[in-house]
Amino acid sequence: MEILKIDHLGIAVPSIDEGNTFWSEVLGLKMAGKETVESQKVTTAFLPIGQSEIELLESTAPDGPIAKFIEKKGAGFQHVAFQVADIKAALAELKEKGVKLIDETPRGGAGGAQIAFLHPKATGGILVELCQRD
Ligand code: ZN
Repeated sequence: MEILKIDHLGIAVPSIDEGNTFWSEVLGLKMAGKETVESQKVTTAFLPIGQSEIELLESTAPDGPIAKFIEKKGAGFQHVAFQVADIKAALAELKEKGVKLIDETPRGGAGGAQIAFLHPKATGGILVELCQRD
């Protein structure tokens, strides 16, 4: 599997507008875009840092995965995303290695990326996302 870089770090926030204060006003990062992914009940905002980004995640519904995450663990670091050259090949390789996957096939994420999550049980407790951007 070819991992190209850390694409982004996902941070769960109760509200992007409020959660953005530290990142934008204190650190001076610029928000590059905001997008709602209805299928995931999430609104995301991307703040580029060099070749990587911070992704702020706000739930659009009380039963969405981000709302549930915040309920369970509180706001904060939620996932790390690795950009891969070929997400289908990467998933096939991980499956072959017996890694538990949340997504066996890639699905559409924010910014037109193809994404897939690995199960935290297979990674030592970290939610890992693979993404491919063409
Ligand atoms: Zn992400």
